[in-house]
Order: sequence, then structure tokens, then C-alpha cells
Amino acid sequence: MKWERGYKSDNVIDQRGARRRATGFAAGGGGLVAIVLALLFGTDLFSGGATAPTGATASGQGGAQATVSKQDQELVSFVSFVLDDIQGFWAKELPKNGQTWRPAKLVLFSDEVSSACGLQSSATGPFYCPADQLAYIDLGFYRVLKDRLGAPGDFAQAYVLAHEIGHHVQNLTGVAARVHAARQRDPDGANAMSVRQELQADCYAGVWAHSTARRDLLERGDLEEGLNAASHIGDDALQKQAGARVRPETFTHGSSAQRTKWFKRGFESGRMDACDTFSGPL
Ligand SMILES: [Zn+2]
Repeated sequence: MKWERGYKSDNVIDQRGARRRATGFAAGGGGLVAIVLALLFGTDLFSGGATAPTGATASGQGGAQATVSKQDQELVSFVSFVLDDIQGFWAKELPKNGQTWRPAKLVLFSDEVSSACGLQSSATGPFYCPADQLAYIDLGFYRVLKDRLGAPGDFAQAYVLAHEIGHHVQNLTGVAARVHAARQRDPDGANAMSVRQELQADCYAGVWAHSTARRDLLERGDLEEGLNAASHIGDDALQKQAGARVRPETFTHGSSAQRTKWFKRGFESGRMDACDTFSGPL
């Protein structure tokens, strides 16, 4: 993806290093991904040099440390650019659909973070909390995405952010509240409702991706990186990765095929109203 190096965003809140080396991890609210990631990687998932704050004592050589921190800065800059691009898109798009836009902010954290949705650990993966309208990510997730989940590439990273901001859009349109109420009313159907909500966030990520193509920000292979990421974080793919039996009734995010399909639908249509995942088959 084409982006502006050195970019800074007012919507990024850097809390990395605020709470380090937590013992155990919070399972609350994380759902299946937390469990699967925990199964896969254990509680030590994101420890390591890449997210160490500047000035932390490390055994590595100064030169190596400097390199890590430079890569880290570049990633923060990339995430900042993409976040503002996604939100700039929705700031124009939502009013066209009769909705009022408010920007979300993105919290960068390491190890664990206290949110209005409770204490969450890195093992949860990136998430959006409707109660504080903040998206959260431990940038170490991108290493996992690339090395362990088989989804490399900057557009895979961008897709993850666009999915989370998709949840923010759902919060603004009232979809999040309606899903929440429906899940409370019908606990047996809660997973199925969650899948519909998640697939809509994937479709919204695709709608934004469509705009990047139109604005000539896509580079060769970007779309494939996004589709590949959607496919590799399907619930069936994660369960297989964890060596577990695939159990569709436990899905909360949708299968690889579904996630790819809805991202693609958003990408090809470029329209929010093509993202009705709440009626009809998925
Ligand atoms: Zn989601």
C-alpha cells in the first residue's frame, strides 16, 4: 500500500510499556480467538524485544536494539496513516448513508490493557470496545499474523485495522447495540449473531479497501494480502491451527470462506449497503 512515511496521527494513543510482564491473562470478552491464540501460543505470546519501550534494559547489542526500534517506529507510522485514511473515508461515507460520524481512537498497548470492556491481554488479539469507542492493538499481533497465521503483508495489517474500525461504524449506526440486545435475549443464537456482526465488519473493511483502489493507493499484491488474511483468521482455520476439531457451532467470526467472501463483497461493491449480513444466508 502506498503511504506517507513519518506520518503521525492525533488519533493514536501510545500506551506501550504502561503495563508490562503481566502474569496470566484475562479471558473475559476475548472469546474464541483468545482461547485459540492462547492454545496456540501460550501466555508468553507477545513478550520479546519488539514491543519493549525505549530505555528498557535488554541484553542485545545497541545496534540491534536501534534497528528494532526503527522498525517499530515505521510500523507505528504506518498504522497511524492507515487509521486516519480509514476514518477519513468513513467521515465522508457515513453522512452519505444518513449517519453521523465521530472518529475513534486507537490504543497501542503491550501485554495487557485496561479498557471499558475490562482488562484484556495481548492474547485476545486486536479489539474494539464500544463502551469507550477505542480500538486496541498490541502491534506484536502483526508478527503473529505473519509468522504463525500465514498472513504477511502491509495490506493484511491494514485489513485488521479496517475491520476494527468497521466495528466502530457498527457502533455509530446502532448495529452493535442491536446485536448486543439480541445476544442477551437469545443466548443460544449468540454465536450466530456474532458471526453476522463480524462478517459485516469484514465487508466494511472491503468497502474501505475499494476506496484505496480508487484513490490509487493499492500496490501489486495488496488485495491478495487482504484476502489471504481474511482467509487465515477464519474460525475453522484457527481451530485447525490449534489442532482442535472444527466446530462450526462455536464460530464467532465466521469461516475462512465467509470472511473472504464478505471482504470481497465490500471490495467489489464499494458500498455499505452491500454489507447486509443480517438477512439471508452468509
Ligand atoms: Zn471483529
